[in-house]
Amino acid sequence: MKRGLILILSLLCCSIKTYGFDLVYPAEKKNCTTSDYAFFYGQAKNGESISINDSGVHIAPNGAFAYTFKLKDGENRIKLKSDYGVQFFKFYKTTPTQQELPTETFEPKKAFVNSDNTPLRSTPVDAGLNRIGHLFANTSIIINGSQGDFYRVLLSKDKEGWIKKESVTIDTLGLRNTAEFISMDSKRFKNAVIQTISFTNILPYTVEDSEKEIIFRVYNPELSEDSVYSINVPKPTKYTYKITSDCGKYTLKVKQIPEKISDITVVVDAGHGGSERGAIGCLRDEEKDINLKIATELSQELQKKGFNVVMTRECDGNISLDDRVQIAKDVDADIFISIHLNSIGGNTEMDIHKNRGTGIYYFNNNSKQLAEILEKTVSSASGTRKDGIHTASFAVVRPTDYVGVLVECAYMTNPFDSVLYRHSDFAKKTAKGITKGIIDFINSK
Ligand SMILES: [Zn+2]
Repeated sequence: MKRGLILILSLLCCSIKTYGFDLVYPAEKKNCTTSDYAFFYGQAKNGESISINDSGVHIAPNGAFAYTFKLKDGENRIKLKSDYGVQFFKFYKTTPTQQELPTETFEPKKAFVNSDNTPLRSTPVDAGLNRIGHLFANTSIIINGSQGDFYRVLLSKDKEGWIKKESVTIDTLGLRNTAEFISMDSKRFKNAVIQTISFTNILPYTVEDSEKEIIFRVYNPELSEDSVYSINVPKPTKYTYKITSDCGKYTLKVKQIPEKISDITVVVDAGHGGSERGAIGCLRDEEKDINLKIATELSQELQKKGFNVVMTRECDGNISLDDRVQIAKDVDADIFISIHLNSIGGNTEMDIHKNRGTGIYYFNNNSKQLAEILEKTVSSASGTRKDGIHTASFAVVRPTDYVGVLVECAYMTNPFDSVLYRHSDFAKKTAKGITKGIIDFINSK
C-alpha cells in the first residue's frame, strides 16, 4: 500500500516535470500590485498549448511564452490553463495616491555639499534627465526653499536648481567668506582645449552641451544675483569632455575622439554579474551570462580591428556601477559600450510584436551619433528588430568623459527574441554589428 502510494506520487511528480509548463513569473499565486498589468512568462513543454482567461497565448518553437493581462482596480482572477492542468492567480490592484508636495520658501541660507558627484537637478525629482550639473564636495551653495526631499538652490536671479537635502550641510556658523574670482586661462592643443577658471571657494556650476559648443557656467549668487561666469568652448563633431575641480579651480577639458583606431580605447562592459543576475529569460537563462558571451565576442572583434579594449569583467562576478565607470576613467576610455538584454517593466503592456529587438540607450549629446549608427548596424547583423534609440539616465552612460551607449541586444522576456538570442551565433553576430557601428562612427564626418 505504502509502496503503491510512493509509486503514484513519483509518477505524478514525473508527469508534472515532463509535461507541465514552467512559469518563470509570477512566482506567487496571490499578488498585491499597483501595476496596470499582470505579466506572465515562462516555457511550455512538449508542444502544449496555454491560454490565459481563455485567450490563446503565442508559444515560440522553443516553448517560450509571454503574456500581459490588463488589471482592473480591486480583485482580478486569472486562469492559466494548459493541456495538463489549470492554475488560478489572484491580483489585487490598488492605485497609488499621489499628493502634490508644497514648495516652501525661506530666507537664503549658506550650505555645503557633502560629497563629490552630487547631482544638481532642474526639478525636485530624483530621477530622469533633469541633471544640470554634478557638484563637488564642499561646494558653497545658497538655498532658499524646499520641496519634499529637496532644497532649492539659488544660482542667479533667473536660474535655480534642486539638490537632495541629505546631500548638504547647512552652514550655521558662517564658516566661509564670499567667493571671489581669481583668474581664467585657455590652452589649445591639437586634439583638445583646456579651459580653467579659479575662485577662492568651490561654487556651483552647470554644463550645457549646446549645438556648437560646451557652455560651462559658474554661479556666485552670494556676491550678486547677476554674478555668472560663462565659458563657451567650441566642440569638434566627435568629442568627450570633463570637468575637474581643485579647491575652486575648475578645469574643463574638451577632447576630440582620435581618428586612428590604434589610438582609440573602448571599454566593453558586460552588464550585471555574480549575484546580480539581471533579467531572467522565458527559459530561465540569466542575462548576466548572455551579456558576458556577447561582451567577450565584442572584445575579440574590436581587438582584431586594432582597437585598445578593456573589459569591466571577464568572468562571472559582482562589480558595482561606480567601479565600471572608474575603470573607464582610469584607462581614459574614448568609447564605452555596455551590453545588456532587455525585459519589460511592471507597468508595461507586453506586446510580443512591439517589445522585442535591439534598443540603444544613451544620456549625453556626444553619444547620440554612435547610438543612431548602432541602431542600424546591430539589428542588420544579428537579425533582431529595431527597438529604437532612447535617452536614459543609466549610471554607466552618464559621464561625459567618453562616448557611452548601452545596447539592449534583445528582450529576454520576448518569445521571438528568445529563439534569436539563444542561437549559438547570436553573440558573434551582435559583436560584429557593434564593431561595424563603432568603425562607421569613427569614419563618419
Ligand atoms: Zn541588464
